[in-house]
Amino acid sequence: MGELRRVRSGTADAGIGFSGNQKTFRPKKSAPSGSKVDKWYYSIGVANVFPLCLQGAQLRKHIDATLGSGNLREAVRLPPGEDINEWLAVNTVDFFNQVNLLYGTLTEFCTPESCPTMTAGPKYEYRWADGVQIKKPIEVSAPKYVEYLMDWIEGQLDDESIFPQKLGTPFPSNFKEVVKTIFKRLFRVYAHIYHSHFQKIVSLKEEAHLNTCFKHFILFTNEFGLIDKKELAPLQELIESIIVPY
Ligand SMILES: [Zn+2]
Repeated sequence: MGELRRVRSGTADAGIGFSGNQKTFRPKKSAPSGSKVDKWYYSIGVANVFPLCLQGAQLRKHIDATLGSGNLREAVRLPPGEDINEWLAVNTVDFFNQVNLLYGTLTEFCTPESCPTMTAGPKYEYRWADGVQIKKPIEVSAPKYVEYLMDWIEGQLDDESIFPQKLGTPFPSNFKEVVKTIFKRLFRVYAHIYHSHFQKIVSLKEEAHLNTCFKHFILFTNEFGLIDKKELAPLQELIESIIVPY
Protein backbone atom coordinates (compact mmCIF):
# COMPACT_ATOMS: atom_id res chain seq x y z
CA MET A 1 0.00 0.00 0.00
CA GLY A 2 3.01 2.27 0.37
CA GLU A 3 2.87 2.85 -3.36
CA LEU A 4 -0.27 4.94 -3.18
CA ARG A 5 1.30 8.20 -2.22
CA ARG A 6 4.18 7.77 -4.63
CA VAL A 7 1.80 7.35 -7.52
CA ARG A 8 -0.20 10.33 -6.40
CA SER A 9 2.58 12.65 -5.42
CA GLY A 10 3.68 13.61 -8.90
CA THR A 11 0.27 14.74 -10.04
CA ALA A 12 -0.83 16.91 -7.16
CA ASP A 13 -1.94 19.91 -9.15
CA ALA A 14 -2.22 18.55 -12.63
CA GLY A 15 -5.98 18.58 -12.86
CA ILE A 16 -6.97 21.81 -11.20
CA GLY A 17 -6.29 24.26 -14.00
CA PHE A 18 -3.47 26.11 -12.37
CA SER A 19 -1.96 28.46 -14.88
CA GLY A 20 0.03 31.60 -15.33
CA ASN A 21 3.03 32.77 -13.42
CA GLN A 22 3.56 29.32 -12.04
CA LYS A 23 6.85 28.97 -10.32
CA THR A 24 7.57 25.92 -8.32
CA PHE A 25 8.82 26.96 -4.96
CA ARG A 26 10.53 23.71 -4.15
CA PRO A 27 9.51 20.86 -6.39
CA LYS A 28 11.61 18.18 -4.70
CA LYS A 29 8.68 16.21 -3.41
CA SER A 30 6.80 16.04 -6.68
CA ALA A 31 9.49 15.80 -9.33
CA PRO A 32 11.73 12.96 -8.14
CA SER A 33 8.94 10.74 -6.85
CA GLY A 34 8.71 9.04 -10.25
CA SER A 35 12.32 8.02 -10.06
CA LYS A 36 11.80 6.65 -6.57
CA VAL A 37 8.93 4.59 -7.86
CA ASP A 38 11.09 3.36 -10.70
CA LYS A 39 13.88 2.38 -8.37
CA TRP A 40 11.53 0.52 -6.11
CA TYR A 41 9.75 -0.97 -9.11
CA TYR A 42 12.99 -2.48 -10.36
CA SER A 43 14.20 -3.65 -6.96
CA ILE A 44 11.16 -5.71 -6.02
CA GLY A 45 9.97 -6.72 -9.47
CA VAL A 46 7.04 -5.96 -11.73
CA ALA A 47 4.71 -8.67 -10.46
CA ASN A 48 4.70 -7.36 -6.95
CA VAL A 49 4.24 -3.74 -7.85
CA PHE A 50 1.61 -4.00 -10.54
CA PRO A 51 -1.41 -4.54 -8.28
CA LEU A 52 -0.25 -1.63 -6.12
CA CYS A 53 -0.02 0.64 -9.12
CA LEU A 54 -3.53 -0.36 -10.05
CA GLN A 55 -4.64 0.39 -6.53
CA GLY A 56 -2.95 3.77 -6.64
CA ALA A 57 -4.40 4.53 -10.04
CA GLN A 58 -7.85 3.65 -8.77
CA LEU A 59 -7.43 5.93 -5.81
CA ARG A 60 -6.27 8.68 -8.14
CA LYS A 61 -9.27 8.08 -10.34
CA HIS A 62 -11.54 8.23 -7.34
CA ILE A 63 -10.10 11.57 -6.24
CA ASP A 64 -10.07 13.04 -9.76
CA ALA A 65 -13.67 12.02 -10.28
CA THR A 66 -14.85 13.47 -7.00
CA LEU A 67 -12.77 16.63 -7.33
CA GLY A 68 -13.81 16.97 -10.96
CA SER A 69 -17.46 16.78 -10.02
CA GLY A 70 -16.86 19.71 -7.71
CA ASN A 71 -17.95 17.70 -4.71
CA LEU A 72 -15.05 18.41 -2.41
CA ARG A 73 -16.86 17.05 0.60
CA GLU A 74 -17.08 13.68 -1.12
CA ALA A 75 -13.46 13.93 -2.26
CA VAL A 76 -12.10 14.13 1.27
CA ARG A 77 -13.88 11.04 2.58
CA LEU A 78 -11.97 7.86 3.23
CA PRO A 79 -12.78 5.60 0.27
CA PRO A 80 -14.37 2.29 1.32
CA GLY A 81 -11.78 -0.32 2.23
CA GLU A 82 -8.92 2.15 2.25
CA ASP A 83 -6.51 2.30 5.18
CA ILE A 84 -6.92 5.53 7.13
CA ASN A 85 -3.17 6.07 7.54
CA GLU A 86 -2.54 5.51 3.84
CA TRP A 87 -5.29 7.99 3.04
CA LEU A 88 -3.82 10.56 5.41
CA ALA A 89 -0.34 9.98 3.94
CA VAL A 90 -1.45 10.34 0.31
CA ASN A 91 -3.34 13.51 1.06
CA THR A 92 -0.59 14.97 3.23
CA VAL A 93 1.83 14.77 0.30
CA ASP A 94 -0.78 16.29 -2.01
CA PHE A 95 -1.58 19.22 0.24
CA PHE A 96 2.11 19.83 0.82
CA ASN A 97 2.67 20.00 -2.94
CA GLN A 98 -0.32 22.28 -3.38
CA VAL A 99 0.83 24.77 -0.76
CA ASN A 100 4.32 24.64 -2.26
CA LEU A 101 2.95 25.62 -5.65
CA LEU A 102 0.67 28.33 -4.27
CA TYR A 103 3.38 29.95 -2.20
CA GLY A 104 5.78 29.51 -5.10
CA THR A 105 3.79 32.02 -7.15
CA LEU A 106 4.39 34.60 -4.41
CA THR A 107 8.08 34.21 -3.66
CA GLU A 108 9.01 37.42 -5.47
CA PHE A 109 6.36 39.33 -3.51
CA CYS A 110 6.80 37.73 -0.09
CA THR A 111 10.25 39.00 0.85
CA PRO A 112 12.06 39.85 4.10
CA GLU A 113 11.33 43.51 3.27
CA SER A 114 7.61 43.12 2.58
CA CYS A 115 7.07 40.56 5.33
CA PRO A 116 9.71 40.95 8.06
CA THR A 117 7.69 38.68 10.35
CA MET A 118 5.41 35.71 9.72
CA THR A 119 2.00 37.17 10.40
CA ALA A 120 -1.62 36.26 9.78
CA GLY A 121 -3.25 39.66 10.06
CA PRO A 122 -2.54 42.19 12.82
CA LYS A 123 -3.38 39.82 15.66
CA TYR A 124 -1.30 36.76 14.88
CA GLU A 125 2.41 36.32 14.54
CA TYR A 126 4.18 32.99 14.24
CA ARG A 127 7.65 32.27 15.51
CA TRP A 128 9.61 29.31 14.36
CA ALA A 129 10.78 26.35 16.45
CA ASP A 130 11.12 22.76 15.36
CA GLY A 131 11.76 21.44 18.85
CA VAL A 132 14.98 19.78 17.73
CA GLN A 133 17.45 22.20 16.16
CA ILE A 134 15.58 25.32 17.22
CA LYS A 135 13.97 24.81 20.59
CA LYS A 136 13.30 28.38 21.61
CA PRO A 137 10.94 30.08 19.12
CA ILE A 138 12.70 32.65 16.95
CA GLU A 139 11.26 35.59 15.07
CA VAL A 140 12.04 35.27 11.38
CA SER A 141 10.75 36.82 8.16
CA ALA A 142 7.80 35.18 6.47
CA PRO A 143 9.86 33.71 3.59
CA LYS A 144 12.37 32.31 6.07
CA TYR A 145 9.57 30.89 8.19
CA VAL A 146 8.00 29.21 5.17
CA GLU A 147 11.39 27.84 4.18
CA TYR A 148 11.90 26.34 7.65
CA LEU A 149 8.38 25.01 7.62
CA MET A 150 8.58 23.38 4.20
CA ASP A 151 12.02 21.92 4.94
CA TRP A 152 10.67 20.48 8.16
CA ILE A 153 7.66 18.91 6.44
CA GLU A 154 9.83 17.52 3.68
CA GLY A 155 12.04 15.95 6.33
CA GLN A 156 9.01 14.24 7.85
CA LEU A 157 7.76 13.00 4.47
CA ASP A 158 11.20 11.62 3.63
CA ASP A 159 11.59 9.88 6.99
CA GLU A 160 10.68 6.27 6.35
CA SER A 161 10.06 5.61 10.02
CA ILE A 162 7.17 8.09 9.79
CA PHE A 163 6.02 7.75 6.17
CA PRO A 164 7.02 4.17 5.33
CA GLN A 165 7.50 3.46 1.66
CA LYS A 166 7.88 -0.29 1.80
CA LEU A 167 4.90 -2.55 1.47
CA GLY A 168 3.58 -3.80 4.77
CA THR A 169 5.66 -1.50 6.95
CA PRO A 170 3.35 -0.22 9.65
CA PHE A 171 2.88 3.45 10.33
CA PRO A 172 4.24 4.64 13.68
CA SER A 173 1.84 4.93 16.61
CA ASN A 174 2.23 8.72 16.64
CA PHE A 175 1.52 9.01 12.91
CA LYS A 176 -1.65 11.05 13.29
CA GLU A 177 0.11 13.46 15.64
CA VAL A 178 2.82 14.07 13.04
CA VAL A 179 0.18 14.56 10.35
CA LYS A 180 -1.65 17.02 12.61
CA THR A 181 1.51 19.07 13.09
CA ILE A 182 2.09 19.11 9.33
CA PHE A 183 -1.44 20.36 8.67
CA LYS A 184 -1.22 22.94 11.45
CA ARG A 185 1.90 24.33 9.81
CA LEU A 186 0.52 24.22 6.26
CA PHE A 187 -2.48 26.19 7.53
CA ARG A 188 -0.14 28.98 8.64
CA VAL A 189 1.03 29.43 5.05
CA TYR A 190 -2.58 29.79 3.92
CA ALA A 191 -3.22 32.24 6.77
CA HIS A 192 -0.25 34.37 5.70
CA ILE A 193 -1.22 34.26 2.03
CA TYR A 194 -4.81 35.31 2.73
CA HIS A 195 -3.87 38.10 5.12
CA SER A 196 -0.79 39.51 3.40
CA HIS A 197 -0.97 38.60 -0.27
CA PHE A 198 -4.58 38.21 -1.27
CA GLN A 199 -4.56 41.34 -3.46
CA LYS A 200 -1.56 39.98 -5.31
CA ILE A 201 -3.33 36.64 -5.72
CA VAL A 202 -6.31 38.52 -7.21
CA SER A 203 -4.07 40.42 -9.63
CA LEU A 204 -2.50 37.13 -10.67
CA LYS A 205 -6.05 35.80 -11.21
CA GLU A 206 -5.34 32.93 -8.86
CA GLU A 207 -8.00 33.57 -6.27
CA ALA A 208 -10.39 30.91 -7.56
CA HIS A 209 -7.59 28.37 -7.45
CA LEU A 210 -6.49 29.48 -3.98
CA ASN A 211 -10.05 29.31 -2.68
CA THR A 212 -10.62 25.84 -4.11
CA CYS A 213 -7.36 24.55 -2.64
CA PHE A 214 -8.15 26.07 0.73
CA LYS A 215 -11.70 24.75 0.73
CA HIS A 216 -10.42 21.26 -0.05
CA PHE A 217 -7.80 21.63 2.69
CA ILE A 218 -10.33 22.78 5.31
CA LEU A 219 -12.87 20.09 4.46
CA PHE A 220 -10.15 17.47 4.74
CA THR A 221 -8.83 18.73 8.08
CA ASN A 222 -12.39 19.05 9.36
CA GLU A 223 -13.26 15.51 8.27
CA PHE A 224 -10.36 14.00 10.21
CA GLY A 225 -10.04 16.53 13.06
CA LEU A 226 -6.51 17.54 12.11
CA ILE A 227 -6.30 21.16 13.27
CA ASP A 228 -7.36 22.53 16.66
CA LYS A 229 -9.97 25.24 16.54
CA LYS A 230 -7.78 27.88 18.14
CA GLU A 231 -5.20 27.45 15.39
CA LEU A 232 -7.87 28.27 12.82
CA ALA A 233 -8.77 31.62 14.40
CA PRO A 234 -6.90 33.82 11.87
CA LEU A 235 -9.23 32.64 9.09
CA GLN A 236 -12.28 31.88 11.22
CA GLU A 237 -14.87 33.68 9.10
CA LEU A 238 -13.63 32.21 5.86
CA ILE A 239 -13.63 28.75 7.41
CA GLU A 240 -17.18 29.14 8.72
CA SER A 241 -18.31 30.07 5.23
CA ILE A 242 -16.80 26.80 4.00
CA ILE A 243 -18.06 24.49 6.73
CA VAL A 244 -21.50 25.90 7.49
CA PRO A 245 -23.19 25.65 4.05
CA TYR A 246 -23.27 21.88 4.29
ZN1 LIG B 1 4.54 37.46 2.82
